[in-house]
Amino acid sequence: MTNKVRHVLGISGGKDSAALAIYLHNLYPELDIEYYFSDTGKELEETYQLIKNLEIYLGKKITRIEAADQSHESPFDHFHKLYGGFLPSSQARWCTKKLKLEPFEKFVGDDPVVSYVGIRGDEDREGYISKKPNIQSIFPFRKNIWSEDVISKVLDNQSMDLIASFYGGEAGNEDINEVITVVQTPISPKFSRGDKLNNLLNHGVKKFNRVVSRFLQQTDYPLASVNEFPLLGNDEVLIREDIFRILRESGVGVPQYYEKISYEVNGKRGEYARSRSGCFFCFFQQKIEWVWLYEQHPERFKKAMEYEKAGYTWMQEESLEELIQPERIQQIKEDHLKKMEKLASQNSPYLLDILDEAEGTGCASCFI
Ligand code: SF4
Repeated sequence: MTNKVRHVLGISGGKDSAALAIYLHNLYPELDIEYYFSDTGKELEETYQLIKNLEIYLGKKITRIEAADQSHESPFDHFHKLYGGFLPSSQARWCTKKLKLEPFEKFVGDDPVVSYVGIRGDEDREGYISKKPNIQSIFPFRKNIWSEDVISKVLDNQSMDLIASFYGGEAGNEDINEVITVVQTPISPKFSRGDKLNNLLNHGVKKFNRVVSRFLQQTDYPLASVNEFPLLGNDEVLIREDIFRILRESGVGVPQYYEKISYEVNGKRGEYARSRSGCFFCFFQQKIEWVWLYEQHPERFKKAMEYEKAGYTWMQEESLEELIQPERIQQIKEDHLKKMEKLASQNSPYLLDILDEAEGTGCASCFI
C-alpha cells in the first residue's frame, strides 16, 4: 500500500463511528487510520468520556479539530456571534458547514484521503459528507461500501462494456452469463440504478468490490493509488444491534445518553433517551429529547434557553420556555407513549425505534 493516501475516521461522539473505529482497528490493523473529532464545544460530557475511552482502546490519540481555533470562545459561540445571534436550523445549517465540514476539509487539505463513515447496513441514507474530489468516502458497515458518486459512474450506461470486461476477468465465474446480462442491461425507468446495484451485489459482494476497484484504477479517486485495499474482501453487514454489541464487548461502552430512562405519565410508564450525539441543543432532536434534556440535564437546557433570548428559537413552532410548561411536557410524553405502545403492538424489536426515525436526518459528521 502506498503511504500517499491518508485514511481518516471522524469520531462524532455517536455510537456508530465509535463502533466503526473499534471494528476497523480489530479487523484491519494494517490500515494506519487517523482519528479526529470536530469539537463544537457544546457536546454532552458523555461524548468527551467516549472519546477518552476510545483513545485508551485504540492506543491512539484522537485529534481534536476546532473551527475558529484562535477565538477565545467555543467554536459554536464564535460563529453564533458572527451570524448575529441567528440560530442554525435544518434549512440554514451553518453549524455543520462551519463547525464540522470546513475544519475537516482544512485538516485533510489537498491530500488524497479515504474517509470511513459508519452508516449502518440497516440505514437507507448517504449522510451529509464532504464532496471534495480528494476525499473518498467508504461505508464498511454496508453491503455496498461505495459512495453514491462512485456507484453512479460504475453503473453508468456508458461503462457497461468496461464493467463487463472486468467481470469477465474474475475467477470463479460460474454465473458469468447472468452477471453480464445484468451489467449489459441499461438503466431505465423499469430497471433503476438501485435495482442494478442490488442485483450485482447479490451475485457476490467481494467480486463487485474488486470490479469497482479495477474501475477506480482508471480514475483520480484516492483509491486509484492504493495497491491493496483490504476492505474489498469484506462482505459483512452490520446493523444497530451489532453496534451496541461491539461497544459493550470492547469495554469502550455505550454513551450514557443512549440508555433508556423511565418516566411516568397518567399512571403509565414510558421510556426516553437521546437518539444521537452532537450539540446538546441540536435542532434535529425530537420533542421528547428536549424533555429528556430538561429533566436529565437541566443546566444544559437552561443554557439552550439562553440562546433563545436573542429572539430566535430552536424550533419554529414553539420556544423552549413554552415547551417546558407542565401541560406541554405532559402532552409530549403522552404522544411519545402512544407511539411507543403502537410500536410495541407491531412487535417492533426496538423500543428506541421511535428515536431512530430521527437518525436518518442530519449529518454524518455530527451524529454517526
Ligand atoms: S449537532 Fe446539530 S447543532 Fe451541532 S453542529 Fe451538528 S447539526 Fe449543528
